[in-house]
Amino acid sequence: MAHVTLEEYEDPHAQQFLAELGGAKSIDIIGLLRKHKEVDEFKLADRLKMDVKSVRKILYRLYEKKLVSFRRMRDETRGWHIYIWRVEPGRMSKLMTERWEKSINQLKTQMDYEKTNQFFKCENGCVRVVFEKAFENSFVCSECGSKLVFFDNLLIVKQLREYINQKDAVIGG
Ligand SMILES: [Zn+2]
Repeated sequence: MAHVTLEEYEDPHAQQFLAELGGAKSIDIIGLLRKHKEVDEFKLADRLKMDVKSVRKILYRLYEKKLVSFRRMRDETRGWHIYIWRVEPGRMSKLMTERWEKSINQLKTQMDYEKTNQFFKCENGCVRVVFEKAFENSFVCSECGSKLVFFDNLLIVKQLREYINQKDAVIGG
């Protein structure tokens, strides 16, 4: 097997993402798998002072995301199967890119919404509504009864555009 450094896991965002996917302990599990290439679940449990069942639960969660894979071996003396796990190279960076793109798309949708609507805001700041809604309510706040006044969202659009550019820059878009 070619030597794989799995540097994708050095990124603090990757560690955080990993913890979100499989809990804090998944960072330790991936750490051991990176270090030793292949480790069976009993050894993992032993090293991390966890029970095998909990280790397996985390591994299955990571397996669902294809971050880890396993091969099965029969333990002749005990007559059962052991699962030997390893990290799938490249998978973490792929998942992170996907997540990044998804959040960029959400920001773009939000920006479109801001750009294609006119907004009105309560003088007391209770609500911000689109023109149609403000019109329906005769430009009166549904919360406090005050006037709804035109709200310039240029700053919001500008900020969204900055977020999008920053995120685009990270994935080299
Ligand atoms: Zn109000």
